[in-house]
Amino acid sequence: TVSVALFTSDLRVHDQPVLRAALRAADQVVPLFVLDRGIARAGFDAPNRRAFLADCLAALDAGLRERGGRLVVRTGDTATEVRRVAGETGAREVHVAAGVSRYALDRERRLREALSGTDCALHAHDAVVTALPPGQVTPSSGDHFAVFTPYFRRWQEAGVRDALGAPRSIDVPSLDGDAPPRRDAVSGVSPGVPEGGESAARAKLTAWLRDGVEDYEDRHDDLPGDATSRLSPYLHFGCLSPAESVHRARRKGGPGADAFVRQLAWRDFHHQVLAARPAVSWSDYRERGDRWRDDAGTEAAVEAWRQGRTGYPIVDAAMRQLRHEGWMHNRGRLLVASFLTKTLYADWRTGARHFLDLLVDGDIANNQMNWQWVAGTGTDTRPNRVLNPLTQAKRFDPRGAYVRRWVPELADVEGAAVHQPWRLPEKERAALDYPDPIVDLSEARDRFLRARKP
Ligand code: FAD
Repeated sequence: TVSVALFTSDLRVHDQPVLRAALRAADQVVPLFVLDRGIARAGFDAPNRRAFLADCLAALDAGLRERGGRLVVRTGDTATEVRRVAGETGAREVHVAAGVSRYALDRERRLREALSGTDCALHAHDAVVTALPPGQVTPSSGDHFAVFTPYFRRWQEAGVRDALGAPRSIDVPSLDGDAPPRRDAVSGVSPGVPEGGESAARAKLTAWLRDGVEDYEDRHDDLPGDATSRLSPYLHFGCLSPAESVHRARRKGGPGADAFVRQLAWRDFHHQVLAARPAVSWSDYRERGDRWRDDAGTEAAVEAWRQGRTGYPIVDAAMRQLRHEGWMHNRGRLLVASFLTKTLYADWRTGARHFLDLLVDGDIANNQMNWQWVAGTGTDTRPNRVLNPLTQAKRFDPRGAYVRRWVPELADVEGAAVHQPWRLPEKERAALDYPDPIVDLSEARDRFLRARKP
């Protein structure tokens, strides 16, 4: 007998319920990944993620080969390819992670349709992509939590499922596949995109729990210190299991590990919002009556933001980190998103799109819901707060080291003066190839607050 383990956002062999269930169901398993053309059509096929994905698939193939198996890659439409593979092998069961985003839910529906009328059944597994499945905990009224704190309380009480070990051996039937993508064939990749894949992910998690997590509670907002886990791309592609990560962090224990687990719960929180309201990937979760700026100057201002040339060094540093690494520190994400949506009063969708074009961890649930949180159209209970980039800079980059790292034009400006280059003596200022601020902060704040509260 044959079954199919369809890999999607779960590119790993450890704690992999989909693979486990497929192995339990049959003597032989087809570990299948479909390079779906729909991803490209949806504009989600960005070079940074494509490069990282190539590593993830190579690592998954290696993990399967260590166990006597291999990865079968096909190209096309997922539902069509799965049906074809089931036909070619006589598979009776297809196992896949349950979907959360609209794209994944749609894929699941199309898989069901494609297999209906065949003698092959589809099984979707919960708690693969998230630690707790969306919908497992709900408030007394409503189908999802709109506020994090009560969600987190229930999330902790609910208990994350136990982690599964990796299978010992996998027998794959003979079957044709397409060549897997190669990282070096992808052009336009940011130079700092890390190596993807499960073995890199596991090594990073082990090192993080050994050396980094202890200080996490104190240092997670330290921009130049760069003291967060950087596990987000691996969690996004499922090279790491969120459930296993929670258990390993809890075993480590301490305030740093607790704070880290809380962030993993934020990830689940956003997923449960999106699962309950799939349309909010691009529409407002809470309609605030915004008429986002759309005058002649908007595009130039947004482009200056994209390029890291707003004249506000802390904003520009973070935007350049994004372009260089395909990753940005969370404090940076918060302040640049506030700058775009509140200071420039540009539509959050424009910013979310740019992030998705570059972030290796670019994720519909986390990206869109965080953008909405900052824009005040999401789940923030203080939707009208405006982050002042100068205050943020003084708090989170007090000596300016983060700015000097990412904005080379300002590398020679010493100390906190780097945050306000317009205040430098005229001669010094003129020698810098760095723009003047594109917007006045207090006027911008007033414009936003007037627009929000008519
Ligand atoms: P750590 O601080 O080490 O946290 C550990 C893990 O917890 C992260 O890897 C991530 O999986 C999760 N996590 C942490 N903070 C959040 C959060 N606020 N929401 C959801 N999960 C969180 N995260 C993404 O994974 N993908 C995105 O596309 C994304 N877009 C964002 C856009 C904006 C505007 C903002 C403000 C935040 C966004 N985040 C996104 C959340 C957060 O910034 C990143 O997860 C984090 O910076 C990744 O770095 P890390 O792995 O070192 O995080």
